[in-house]
Amino acid sequence: MNPSSASHPFSALLGPLRYACQDQFARLKTVKNLRQPIEAALKGAEARGAADGDVASLRRELPNVDHSSLEQRREALRRIVHVLHRSGLSLPSELQTLMPVEPIAEPEEVDGEEAEKTGPARLLSIAPSTGPLAVPLNKAGWRINSRLLSTLYRKGIQRIGDVLFLLPRCYEDRRKMLPIAHLRAGERGVTVGTVRTAGEFSIRGRRRLFKAVIADESGSIAAVYFHAGPWLKGRFPIGKRIVLSGEVRASSSGWEIAHPEVEPADDQGSSPVHFNRLVPIYSGLERFEQRSFRDLAYKIADRYGDALEEPLPADLRGKLGLIGISEAIRGIHFPAGAEDLTRLNQHLSPAHRRLAFDELFFLQLGILVRRQGIQKQPGIAFNVEPGRLAKACAALPFRLTQAQQRVIGEICRDMGRGEPMNRLLQGDVGSGKTAVATAAAAIVLLDGYQVAIMAPTEILAEQHQKSLQGMLGPLGFKIALVSAGGPAKQKREIREAIAQGKVHLAVGTHALIEESVEFHRLGMVVIDEQHRFGVLQRHLLMTKGRRPDVLVMTATPIPRTLAMTLYGDLEVSVIDELPPGRTPIATRVFSEKVRARVYELIGKELSNGRQCYVVYPLVEESEKVDLADATQGVQRLQEIFKDYRVGLLHGRLKAEAKEAVMEEFRAGRIQILVCTTVVEVGVDVANASVMVIEAAERMGLSQLHQLRGRVGRGSAKSYCFLLAGYARSKDASDRLAVMERSNDGFEIAEKDLELRGPGEFLGTRQSGIPELAVANLARDAALLAVAREEARRILAADPELRLPEQAGLIKALSERWGGRLALSRVG
Ligand code: ADP
Ligand code: MG
Repeated sequence: MNPSSASHPFSALLGPLRYACQDQFARLKTVKNLRQPIEAALKGAEARGAADGDVASLRRELPNVDHSSLEQRREALRRIVHVLHRSGLSLPSELQTLMPVEPIAEPEEVDGEEAEKTGPARLLSIAPSTGPLAVPLNKAGWRINSRLLSTLYRKGIQRIGDVLFLLPRCYEDRRKMLPIAHLRAGERGVTVGTVRTAGEFSIRGRRRLFKAVIADESGSIAAVYFHAGPWLKGRFPIGKRIVLSGEVRASSSGWEIAHPEVEPADDQGSSPVHFNRLVPIYSGLERFEQRSFRDLAYKIADRYGDALEEPLPADLRGKLGLIGISEAIRGIHFPAGAEDLTRLNQHLSPAHRRLAFDELFFLQLGILVRRQGIQKQPGIAFNVEPGRLAKACAALPFRLTQAQQRVIGEICRDMGRGEPMNRLLQGDVGSGKTAVATAAAAIVLLDGYQVAIMAPTEILAEQHQKSLQGMLGPLGFKIALVSAGGPAKQKREIREAIAQGKVHLAVGTHALIEESVEFHRLGMVVIDEQHRFGVLQRHLLMTKGRRPDVLVMTATPIPRTLAMTLYGDLEVSVIDELPPGRTPIATRVFSEKVRARVYELIGKELSNGRQCYVVYPLVEESEKVDLADATQGVQRLQEIFKDYRVGLLHGRLKAEAKEAVMEEFRAGRIQILVCTTVVEVGVDVANASVMVIEAAERMGLSQLHQLRGRVGRGSAKSYCFLLAGYARSKDASDRLAVMERSNDGFEIAEKDLELRGPGEFLGTRQSGIPELAVANLARDAALLAVAREEARRILAADPELRLPEQAGLIKALSERWGGRLALSRVG
């Protein structure tokens, strides 16, 4: 392939990157919403045949390019530049200089047993970006093993401060050595013994292993490595006493430790770092790297621990009994001898509490500052007199439920005020959120303003456009669909009509936030399925008007704790009642073995004239694979149900093709619709009474609940069958059992949050919150409430944080929130 930049698949990335990185990131703070152009360029690159591995590496950085921490953004951009360089794209010199100082090694194949796995490294995003802690590790004046250094660089740990803020995953108790016979399987243990035998052997004739046997008076234990090398032999000199530590397990031939940490026993007395204490274990480092990293962490904590600036005011810490930042950071790596091992491992030690509070507090403070900024600006006060509201509601073909009436009341109160509305509307799928939004939109239109409604998919946008046309068209309003594709002429005409105010309501996907879309007099922005969009998109759409009212809707009921964190700047309304005439959905989990039974049940419904969805999960990054599954599914179903028609709907179809399939299904000419998760939002066919979800164990509970909401739309009894695939585990079946038991979206969401944590719960698309490293939203609800209360109190007394004692707060806020806080002040 010609490496000249224009023809290279990644060439489209250069523009946004140069812009974001100019002058050594000097202007990065003001660069917003970087993800979008990069994502678009990646799509293009894929189409132009870019290497899958490179695309995947770049995709992984997407959530980081708009990260709240400027530092994380910089690091992500550096890594992106590095991947581009590796892919053979010729880089302009200003980008070349941004490449990481040390070469980044290719990830190595790591034996599953070898790495301290369970999740990525958890790095607090609060390492300062200036001062001694910002010095790169390779300039720190220590010799650091180059292999360790490249592992660390790969994980984004590049500066002295990053080491301090990498949290240990757990701790190993090395306060006392146990005799071998007292070790317990399944626990971490440390023991001393004499090496009896050591050597390589192989299994199944090919794989080479290394095994050494160590014994004391009480018994013996094997040290096993799933690779071999001369250096291993050097660690186990026969007849010498060594210290051995790691997770003990029982094998057929007795105790063993896989990939233990080993050291000569004579060291034991002299080392203040590795023995006679509680030692930290870090995730993502291989066992043999633990020791050298621990050494490094000890040195850095010792030398720089006191260089940390305390961001929390002393009185606040005093009041809440929180220890200082230096003490916390030192204690988190090297706990005092008397600490409780269990509390430490649950991340509940005083050091953990202090850092968790820190995270939550600055998150809340930032959110509240942002909200203050929004509320201060004048918005539009709409006419919400009872007559107007009645007229708006009369546009709907049904009477609002009690819950809908209450919610529209809350919305009207906001709309009538001078400040811009910023409201989140939550409600289960089918609870009638769109209906409420329609009434609110009608009020805006009756006042002579325009409305923009943003939906996550084309299908949903079209569906909204149709139903809105039906309800608001008769009042004389013009509704248009804004899409990214289609004939240029038509696109231009629609955009012109919006700019001139000839179109009153514009519905679309994120095409709405394109620069070419301008409004004449935008009064309200509605965002459907908020969790699909980031905070930044919301802001972009808002800037198309002069402080329009904002209504965001979500069918993923968000547990209170999370809503407080994510949407702390939004008021929340909840629709907790379904429109009349719905029947509950009966949900059952089936294992792969009884698949035939599922087909039998489908057949029964089909013969009663009903229709059926069969959904294949869409797992990120592997759309192609899922598509193959779905295509096979169609064939299989068509063979089984010869008398019926089976259709296929997926995200890669062209808009017209999607529409055609949907239309056939709506009209009942297709009885079984096989789809990827595109149906998750918005498809509405009342005659469909069965939903089958394949490989259900791969999906989150909230997502399953949303999917399930696609049936049960009519008065017929409806069913949801969850097929749990081969990977079914105890965990998965416990999780799926929740679906059989509960029909309550909130209960399911709470469970989901508890089981999966906020990051996964929201999906990678959510760019609204920084990933929390220490705090855990499911567990720390009480701490979050305290953090919020304290943040509120401080702002109430000093809204601009002008008092001298708040200087530390301001500094920490701007470091952690970076450009994000400025965003709301401007937007
Ligand atoms: P959501 O946006 O919450 O998924 P929708 O507003 O799309 O829900 O409503 C789901 C279905 O219920 C639609 O077919 C809608 O016409 C209908 N619907 C909504 N509100 C009512 C109501 N108060 N009475 C009867 N049907 C309703
Ligand atoms: Mg909806």
